[in-house]
Amino acid sequence: MQQMEMEIEEFITQYPVCQYAVLSPADIPFSDRVRYICRTECERYGKSWSCPPAVGEPDACRQRCLEYEKALVFTTMAEVSDAQVLAETLATRGQHEEVTRALVRELELRGCQCLPLSAESCQICETCAYPKPCRHPERAIPCVESYGILVTEIAQQCGIEFYADSHTVTWFGLIFFGRRKTGGL
Ligand code: SF4
Repeated sequence: MQQMEMEIEEFITQYPVCQYAVLSPADIPFSDRVRYICRTECERYGKSWSCPPAVGEPDACRQRCLEYEKALVFTTMAEVSDAQVLAETLATRGQHEEVTRALVRELELRGCQCLPLSAESCQICETCAYPKPCRHPERAIPCVESYGILVTEIAQQCGIEFYADSHTVTWFGLIFFGRRKTGGL
């Protein structure tokens, strides 16, 4: 895995990644409180395959993450004319996901299995097919909060900054990678 971290250091420079860190899945902070907020405050709850309850029970999500050897945490940035306009901000999620998919491809090329998570709910389709089958299961990336993960704590732990002003959005990504302890996908 140390070799893989050196390879990440090399290939990640080819992508518009602002900051990144590699940590152990055991160091990722999970909290039921995050899922509580999803359930009580998020309008995407129960409306997307990338969000609860579709992603599974909190314990199952946590166990899925702990199956991997390492986690790559990273941020990308997007420019917007007004960061207060949610539609404009969300429209930049696609670029961040392209970077996420590219990093997954790099890791898979090196023999890793990957579980990517992204910020916010999947926006590939104008309206999510949920509860009918997902239209693009190979491209859809679950929301990191849907797994009960405390993004701000990871960022603090790794010294990752969430730079934001009226024209800048910071997107957060997390890719669990490595061999899976139980095999299979
Ligand atoms: S790809 Fe479409 S159907 Fe699948 S989770 Fe994303 S928005 Fe929903």
